[in-house]
Amino acid sequence: MAKKDSHYISAKDMRAIAKENRRITRAFEKKKARKNIPESEYLSEMKDENNIVEFDDLKTYFYTDVGTVKAVDGVTFSVPQGTVVGVVGESGCGKSVTSLSLMQLVQGPSGQISGGEIRFKASDGKTYNIAQMPTNVMNRLRGKEIAMIFQEPMTSLNPIFKIGQQLDEVVLLHEAGATAERAKARSIEMLGLVGISDPERIYGQYPHELSGGMRQRVMIAMALSCEPRLIVADEPTTALDVTIQAQILDLFRNIREKINGSIMLITHDLGVIAEMADYVVVMYAGRVIEQGTAEEIFKNPMHPYTVGLQKSKPVVNQKVDRLYSIPGSVPNPVDMPTYCYFRDRCERACEACAGEYPEMYQVSPTHKVACHLWDSKKKEGNE
Ligand code: SF4
Repeated sequence: MAKKDSHYISAKDMRAIAKENRRITRAFEKKKARKNIPESEYLSEMKDENNIVEFDDLKTYFYTDVGTVKAVDGVTFSVPQGTVVGVVGESGCGKSVTSLSLMQLVQGPSGQISGGEIRFKASDGKTYNIAQMPTNVMNRLRGKEIAMIFQEPMTSLNPIFKIGQQLDEVVLLHEAGATAERAKARSIEMLGLVGISDPERIYGQYPHELSGGMRQRVMIAMALSCEPRLIVADEPTTALDVTIQAQILDLFRNIREKINGSIMLITHDLGVIAEMADYVVVMYAGRVIEQGTAEEIFKNPMHPYTVGLQKSKPVVNQKVDRLYSIPGSVPNPVDMPTYCYFRDRCERACEACAGEYPEMYQVSPTHKVACHLWDSKKKEGNE
């Protein structure tokens, strides 16, 4: 007989949860399927005109048969124009779901943007709230204004079409009046831009004929071909070996200067973030727990989780018997506690940590941390 504990769900409970969650997802899907949605429903205003994207209390949930997984639960941060913002955290912290929400690519019907805003400043001067945008309007932004580079280029490229066909499609789809010749010329130009030495030959090849690094360059060429204002790169170097990784990061740096675009870089690799990012957002269990400039996060990490992440990074010329790892694991996603999600793993937990989930404390104009240790009022009281 199954042991009855706090996480135990009976078949009856499960049926009730599944029924309720199906009702919720049907309502979301019905809303999304509406035709002729007035523009006023999804137009918004940027809080700061220097930003290209603002996530504001974003909530993306997965309504499963065993409960609701709050994969992204009240995430707020912004990407300033022309900067690289690194989003970092361990697997399952919600960083990829945040980027998929921005692209409206969350897998429905179970995955839904349940609340909050994603404000994006488009080239037509309007600010769109992507969280409320109909799919047909989003299709105009996706690829042209916001492009995404995925982790594994082999699964992102279609194996039965030649590289050229896949690149041409992007130009033909998004550039008004583009001819086949124009698309080919643009595709070859983009392959050259990403450092492929023989672009005409690669244009005629299939994905399986290229190495991992070459495929990732093709993906980057594809993302850049419509000169997007924002590139979302989700673990772009994770599937590559270190030397190719370094080349791809160099490529990102060059491209950023050439197109003056903004990059949202999603990774679990602090080394990549340190090399590339201007600003860093640290996520844990679906929430932002610390954010600041790269210098603030690396020189003065304040959240015990960020400190733990940095301690678990190997350091060149420093011999250790065993690399540090943060003890314990993330709480059950369908049954999150009401107190700080990191408390059961935290070496610095205090009495206050058993109370309410900590709010975001501003420690400098750019540095914020969600941890009771930095509640300035409480600190003043203790001193
Ligand atoms: Fe640790 Fe408490 Fe800060 Fe949470 S709020 S990270 S438990 S010190």
